[in-house]
Amino acid sequence: MKLLLRFFLFRFSLLSLLALLALATCPARAADSAAPAAPADPLATLRAGHPRLVFTPQEWAAFDQRVKNRKQDPQFDALLSQLENNARKLLDRPPLGYKKIGYRLLAVSREAFRRITTLAVVYRATHDEAFARRAEKEMLNFAAFSDWNPPHFLDVAEMTAALAFGYDWLHDSLAPESRAAIRKAIVEKGFGEGLDPKLPRNNWQRLENNWNQVCWGGLTLGALAIAEDEPQLARDTLTRARAGIVNGLKPYAPDGVYPEGPGYWSYGTTYQVLVIAALESALGDDWGLPRSPGFMESAKVMFQLTAPSGYTFNFSDCAPRRLFEPALYWFAKKLNTPALATPPISDAETTRFLPLVALWWPDKGLPATKTAPPDMPLAWKGEGINPVAVFRSSWTDPNAMWLAVKAGAANANHGHMDAGSFVFEADGVRWAIDLGSQDYESLESKGLKIWGRQQTSDRWRVFRLNNFSHNTLTIGDQLHRVDGRAEFENFWLTSLDNPLFSTGVTVNLLPVFAGQATKVKRDFVFRSSPSNSFTIEDRIKGVAPGTEIRWAMATKAQVQFYDDKYVANSDGKDIHGKSALLTQDGKQLRVRVKVGSGDFINAPPIGLTVYKDVSPISVNDENQGFEAIPADPPKNDYDALNPDTRILIVRVKVPASGNVRIIVLLQAEEHEVKITSDDGHIRTIRQMQGMDKFNP
Ligand SMILES: [Zn+2]
Repeated sequence: MKLLLRFFLFRFSLLSLLALLALATCPARAADSAAPAAPADPLATLRAGHPRLVFTPQEWAAFDQRVKNRKQDPQFDALLSQLENNARKLLDRPPLGYKKIGYRLLAVSREAFRRITTLAVVYRATHDEAFARRAEKEMLNFAAFSDWNPPHFLDVAEMTAALAFGYDWLHDSLAPESRAAIRKAIVEKGFGEGLDPKLPRNNWQRLENNWNQVCWGGLTLGALAIAEDEPQLARDTLTRARAGIVNGLKPYAPDGVYPEGPGYWSYGTTYQVLVIAALESALGDDWGLPRSPGFMESAKVMFQLTAPSGYTFNFSDCAPRRLFEPALYWFAKKLNTPALATPPISDAETTRFLPLVALWWPDKGLPATKTAPPDMPLAWKGEGINPVAVFRSSWTDPNAMWLAVKAGAANANHGHMDAGSFVFEADGVRWAIDLGSQDYESLESKGLKIWGRQQTSDRWRVFRLNNFSHNTLTIGDQLHRVDGRAEFENFWLTSLDNPLFSTGVTVNLLPVFAGQATKVKRDFVFRSSPSNSFTIEDRIKGVAPGTEIRWAMATKAQVQFYDDKYVANSDGKDIHGKSALLTQDGKQLRVRVKVGSGDFINAPPIGLTVYKDVSPISVNDENQGFEAIPADPPKNDYDALNPDTRILIVRVKVPASGNVRIIVLLQAEEHEVKITSDDGHIRTIRQMQGMDKFNP
């Protein structure tokens, strides 16, 4: 066992130390991020002729070559077949009408993007006129819309991008009058009343979120596509875009954690990549945008945020399923890291950016095996608007233990009241879940104004968005403070030689409980002992006696409670209490809770200090307890259903001291494993599933 442990420690520590060194070098990189000076004429270096958007004529020539030799690369051949199939299906589909959902035309704009780019790429691959004519018909249909819905400007931006690509990629095969009609539509419906920042519809220009990226992205693509015919509009757009687009890049700083969650990383970053690639291909100048702090690093962060199951840490407005991200193919090339380009997944047909993959395809094909990018640490933390820490026991084992936790503030764009919340996997099961976002229209149609970010905003009446649904603490049945920002205080990793190895992070949650407590710290600790478990320890002080503190964890597992004798106190006596046994997919997880009062050591629980508490409080009496409450039916008629979901809750009534300590041990099932020790003896040990890769 010791040998096994030492090996594990070595692997864990070495990789993690490398990561810490990498983190330490980040600020130096930030210093050289100043954008180069803008030339007097933003169009001075405009590439003449078409195509010039995102891909250069050389890249199209390489694409032609790849198409010619498609049978030599079965994965590229499969991608192209998929695109051809998608394009064929479009040939006899009815044209789209001007149909809004609520106040958004966005679904139509996105389908326009998918249709036009798919048809254009397949035409370039097959030279079959039917695809070019259908793309032309699609563009003329959208060009004839009365408008592209400027009050919700994302819709305009994505439609402008769609027509810009079709216009540029198919330029020479479009009829001159079609080109004129498309240009006119881009000018009148894309730019409309212009870019005056005082116009309400243009409020995205300075926003530091995905709107800035998508809207500047769409308009920049539009301006570059028609620049020779509309030079003044193009110059004006490029000048303003250069000044405004830096705002959308600020949230990546310093470490690449996108504060709006993995889903919006995908949206904002894809448009950011399109702009950068289009500036490079059309002007030969990326404006220094890729050097914005954290931007290039954000591609690897997506792998940190992806659990062994393949699902993501879905904080903020985000679903857990990881999207297929064509933009990663661009990052793979730029960073010379082929492993960033993961194969297209089954839902790729509906991914409107799929045609881009055919052009960004790696010269040497996809990597033979699906591996994580190299040099990825097992314990990692990223700072920023929404700091995140992630711990895992392996990068390759689907049964590995994985925990991700976030700090930050609820008033970030698309934010939830989820400071201190975590998602946990072990044995291939996601035991602790985040319920994710709720469909916006389902709330807006019932009159909720979900985009306010004040303490009293409707947004916080929604169960999935407030602290009551998240795996965090609630004090006195109150909402978190919307403007309180939780921060990481410690992120530690004990040395290789420490027999009480641990790694973890402390979150200072006091800002979200301002006025309710004098101290709220939450420690996440991964220890080698007992039995490679994860501990979540809350240290709370200065709460009014009698107040209820609620500890919560949402789960899809079946929950049974049982009487347990689970930890030895510092005086050597066992504690008796109630534990929960979670069962899902034939696997089990024990959730063991200990609640204490009185004073306690004011230090992060490095090593095994965790059980040296005094004055345990029973969680079994009538006022306090450990229970599992079904998430359905929801409290309000506007809340989404959460089928087959329970919230595991520990309730603690604050004692006279005002201090409470809650220790929860998440302990995955142990399995008997045979190992061969140095002296040749085969023996059986019990260890967690997924730890066998650490066998020497
Ligand atoms: Zn959430």
